[in-house]
Amino acid sequence: MLKSKDYKFWFATGSQDLYGDDCLKEVAEHSKKMVEGLNASGLLPFEVVWKPTLIDSASIRKCFNEANADEFCAGVITWMHTFSPAKMWILGLQEFRKPLLHLHTQFNREIPWDTIDMDFMNTNQSAHGDREFGHIVSRMGIERKVVVGHWSDEKVQKRIGSWMRTAVGVMESSHIRVVRVGDNMRDVAVTEGDKVEAEVKFGWEIDAYNITDVAEYVQAVSEADTNALVEEYYSSYDILLEGRDEKEFRKHVAVQAQQEIGFKRFLEEHNYHAVVTNFQMLSGLQQLPGLSMQRLMQQGYGFGGEGDWKTAAMVRLMKIMSEGMEEAKGTSFMEDYTYHLSPGKEAILQAHMLEVCPSIADVKPSIKVCPLSMGNREDPARLVFTSNPGKGVACSLIDIGTRFRLIINEVECLKQDIPMPKLPVATALWKPEPNLITGAESWILAGGAHHTAFSLDLTSEQMGDWGAAMGIECIFIDKDTTIRNLKNELRWNEAAFRLNK
Ligand code: MN
Repeated sequence: MLKSKDYKFWFATGSQDLYGDDCLKEVAEHSKKMVEGLNASGLLPFEVVWKPTLIDSASIRKCFNEANADEFCAGVITWMHTFSPAKMWILGLQEFRKPLLHLHTQFNREIPWDTIDMDFMNTNQSAHGDREFGHIVSRMGIERKVVVGHWSDEKVQKRIGSWMRTAVGVMESSHIRVVRVGDNMRDVAVTEGDKVEAEVKFGWEIDAYNITDVAEYVQAVSEADTNALVEEYYSSYDILLEGRDEKEFRKHVAVQAQQEIGFKRFLEEHNYHAVVTNFQMLSGLQQLPGLSMQRLMQQGYGFGGEGDWKTAAMVRLMKIMSEGMEEAKGTSFMEDYTYHLSPGKEAILQAHMLEVCPSIADVKPSIKVCPLSMGNREDPARLVFTSNPGKGVACSLIDIGTRFRLIINEVECLKQDIPMPKLPVATALWKPEPNLITGAESWILAGGAHHTAFSLDLTSEQMGDWGAAMGIECIFIDKDTTIRNLKNELRWNEAAFRLNK
């Protein structure tokens, strides 16, 4: 698995020296206990690191700049235990360049009705101090997450944990490198885009090579290495010969094994984390990469078909954000293919020519070798399966000429219990929110692509927060979407993003 860093998050408590040393001692004790509690919850995917209480402009500025410089720090969580005059925070916030979470909480859960006095009120006044802090962050126009509630509540801890994954996505976005082998599919509009602007906004490096450069790596893979991987395939997946000659079938599978090793060596040597292919540009390759790309996606690489580098980068990003999740259900490149328009059972059959990631499979995948109706290569081997059921999020990043727009649709994958014996590709069958009719109408009005980066492990909140951190327009299509509101939102965003430029 392609891993990201062992990130940590800093916990910065705000106060001031107005209330004396005893108060500050108590503040530090409280925040230490909170950090211990958060780490012990088991609900945070990354460790929280306690930092000494911040009481003036110099210490705040120093703390934020140290956080900037620490490559393992993926963000800072702030909390104002007492009142912390917010002019002290301006310079530090101005210089801070990492994700920020404002945890609006309080050490004690309840008011101690019998004993409460002014000392208690002055020490425990985050209701007061966090508003002062929030004011300056809003005034400065800094993007941040606000999480409200008692720090020991499971809901609060889960929201912090969920945001941590977004923050890591923000940090890692600027390390994503996509290799394009060939250009985008001829004549297609939606897979195009401004690669310079993508590097400015998201930090993505998007480079092109000739497909023959990678084909050389594929051809250089030894027969022994290829056969070893074919053995692994045969022991991991069901083999569906469907009347084909066993030896000929195995040769077709071996072509994909050789591609998997060759592509992977190229990606590793050149430090790329996502790859796109195009069936129109396959010089030096015997088959369109199918099984090989499915396997690379499962190992954490981003992928986009027909040269779609935006979706490839998004798949990689979403692989990073969902990395290491317990009971993960999978993240994949996906494409809207065919509708089921039976009243009350409306759904979209998702697939691609070949390249769907087996991380979403709900059954043991099978290998099939079948003709491809496009391109002029030999019949490619591919993994065939149906997807896990459950709620997920389908994302389409489009370039609308003046800016990027991220369209985020909540969807529900349905259990696919009707066999499709003649369909030789992996599939998912999903119902978009709020329903297929409004969901698809909204998607089309927003200009969404037919390709998506799809995850059963991430939420629209996480993807929207990532988009907000990138400073791009995000359109949510969920249970609350109505066409009238969506059209207004699109119209108003035209003005809002023009002002932002
Ligand atoms: Mn496609």
